[in-house]
Amino acid sequence: MADQSELLITGARQNNLKNVSLRIPHDQVTVITGVSGSGKSSLAFDTIFAEGQWRYIESLSTYARMFLEKLDRPDVDRLEHIRPAIAIEQKNPVRTARSTVGTTTEIADLLRLLFAKIGHPVCPACGTEARSYQPGDVAEVLLKEHGQSRALVLFPVDVKADQDLAALARDLVRRGFFRLRVRDEVEDVTAETASDIATRLKGCRELEVVLDRLVLREDDRARLVDTLETAFRESGGRCIAEIVGAGRHRFSQAYSCQSCGRIFETPKPALFSFNHPLGACPACKGFGNILLYDEDLIVPDRTKSLAGGAIEPWTKPSADWWQKQMLLAFKRRGIDISKPYNKLTQTERKLLWEGDGTGKGGVSAPPGRAGAKVEGINDFFEYLEGKRYKLHVRVMLSRYRSPVSCDACKGTRLRPEALAVRVGGRTIAEVAALTIATAAEWTRALPLSAFEREVAKDILAMLTAKLGFLLRVGLGYLTLSRQTRTLSGGEAQRISLATQLGAQLTGTLYVLDEPTIGLHARDTATLAGILADLAKAGNTVIIVEHDHTMIESAHFVVEMGPAAGERGGEVVCAARYPEFLAHPTALTARYLSGQETIPVPRRRRKGTGRALVLVGATEHNLKNLTVKIPLGTFTCVTGVSGSGKSTLVEETIYRALARAFRVENLPMGRFEAIGGVEHLHGVRLIDQEPIGRTPRSNPATYIKVFDDIRRFFAALPEARRTGLLPGDFS
Ligand SMILES: [Zn+2]
Ligand SMILES: [Zn+2]
Repeated sequence: MADQSELLITGARQNNLKNVSLRIPHDQVTVITGVSGSGKSSLAFDTIFAEGQWRYIESLSTYARMFLEKLDRPDVDRLEHIRPAIAIEQKNPVRTARSTVGTTTEIADLLRLLFAKIGHPVCPACGTEARSYQPGDVAEVLLKEHGQSRALVLFPVDVKADQDLAALARDLVRRGFFRLRVRDEVEDVTAETASDIATRLKGCRELEVVLDRLVLREDDRARLVDTLETAFRESGGRCIAEIVGAGRHRFSQAYSCQSCGRIFETPKPALFSFNHPLGACPACKGFGNILLYDEDLIVPDRTKSLAGGAIEPWTKPSADWWQKQMLLAFKRRGIDISKPYNKLTQTERKLLWEGDGTGKGGVSAPPGRAGAKVEGINDFFEYLEGKRYKLHVRVMLSRYRSPVSCDACKGTRLRPEALAVRVGGRTIAEVAALTIATAAEWTRALPLSAFEREVAKDILAMLTAKLGFLLRVGLGYLTLSRQTRTLSGGEAQRISLATQLGAQLTGTLYVLDEPTIGLHARDTATLAGILADLAKAGNTVIIVEHDHTMIESAHFVVEMGPAAGERGGEVVCAARYPEFLAHPTALTARYLSGQETIPVPRRRRKGTGRALVLVGATEHNLKNLTVKIPLGTFTCVTGVSGSGKSTLVEETIYRALARAFRVENLPMGRFEAIGGVEHLHGVRLIDQEPIGRTPRSNPATYIKVFDDIRRFFAALPEARRTGLLPGDFS
């Protein structure tokens, strides 16, 4: 009988694995390390995780299996004592603009519930915070402001336009209410006096039922609250307190403006969702930005003239008419058609963009339009907008537009009604703009009434827990509104790790793919601690990793090797950390124990003496940075997680260059200027994106080496004799 405390792998041959067998302890942290291509992922993901998945799917009903992707079973003789497996990979699968850190972590859902439960609307008419009263609140106010006074507690009953007052009064009697406020008197009502009272009350829109007459004393608080509860229940959330000799006060359970009396509906959670029509900003439909025609894209080279093709969309044959009529308009007004765009006067540019509807100098009506006038660039796009139903027109239009922050919602994506509601003085958009660390602090310090604290108790507890897990995995610096697709693979992975911590599973097998990538050494130790806790809670943690801190903190280490590809696929060592460190041939162990070192280069390149200079970068958390990067050298940008490395390098520098070289047109990080672009010939982004997911793609096809191989085969004497071409070898 094998030991249940270990995962037993016998005869694994997936990918380059050479029939390996080993044991991995359960409820502990195991690191699988080794040189790249040695078979770490083949063992961790393609064998252990894949088998865990396969068994799980097999355990489902045939019906449920129909909806799941068919998985190939890994090539392994036996896997014993495997647990349900969860992979936490270095991948950020999110591409949509609608997903944010808040929505993926479900913190956004909790905030919506919180705002719906205890949000205070602010009156759009007078800017005063509206408030609502519960019976306890009313008692509090009355005792505080009118202590020791005599008071009447009443509730209002609405009278509809043609309602029979006598019947209404008799109905109240049946329900057990016998006293009504009639003008300045309190009168008893009975079935008999009902019609008499009704006559005297003729024309009034509201009856007032007297519930109680009492002295406002602390000792009688319970009785007062009791009466107020009855009033709220009978009237649908309203009551009137009449202080003898000191006027009347109306209170409402619904939110109402304390200054103008305007009543607000209790908000629904969907009002706070930009993914819901109830909450989305009507101007931008919840996207936060609007696509506008971008001068930089329409006139990419401002040194070109109108005749020289400055207006990019008008250089296309289909726009020939537009280009010609503008050239003619320029000539008729005596404007030089070979004058560069950046030298045109304000008036000349105005003509170019807005055209001229005065009738003079017009050419002819454009296709499908009436009247002679000079048609500008704006007219051109307006004309095409009318043809949006054609796919190629939509594609063409999108090439000339860039996203600009929505003016109506200031980029918050929410409609004004949603932004009028506050909790602790903040709108939900303001809370979403906070970092996870600040949001945690805000949640902790919310100034709430006892009633609010009670109704929001569960939501606040969940919110605190979720924010806490994200803080633990070192993501306190991310804002809740940060788009998920802009996160690095490592950040996305740590978000799923935080979600797993929140799920508090036990008896689970977690397989992680290099979780330290992109992490600063400072955060790595914290991460190792979290993974150890996960194991301590009764889970098996398997990590594919190179990082020495992770290896040192692991309970068990497996080194794959000895080299890559065909020369790898063997288990060099599988042992507890101290034994691993003493292993004579495990390469990683030799580096860790200092028997091997990586030499520092003796000579460093001087570079070309030129530099790329970025001025005033302010995207995300960049604080008006100016950086100078020497050209012709290898530059490394480092810093703790969230310090802005990716924002600077990828979102700002790369995207600015990609735009300059017309490689890609993505929204750029904000900056003032970039210099030195003229010294470059192009830009390439090499990121962690998988390069191909089809079974036909392999490294050889990716780098196109097969093109050469096919040409070689086609050039062989035999091929030439039979007339075979390179394509015949595909
Ligand atoms: Zn108001
Ligand atoms: Zn908007």
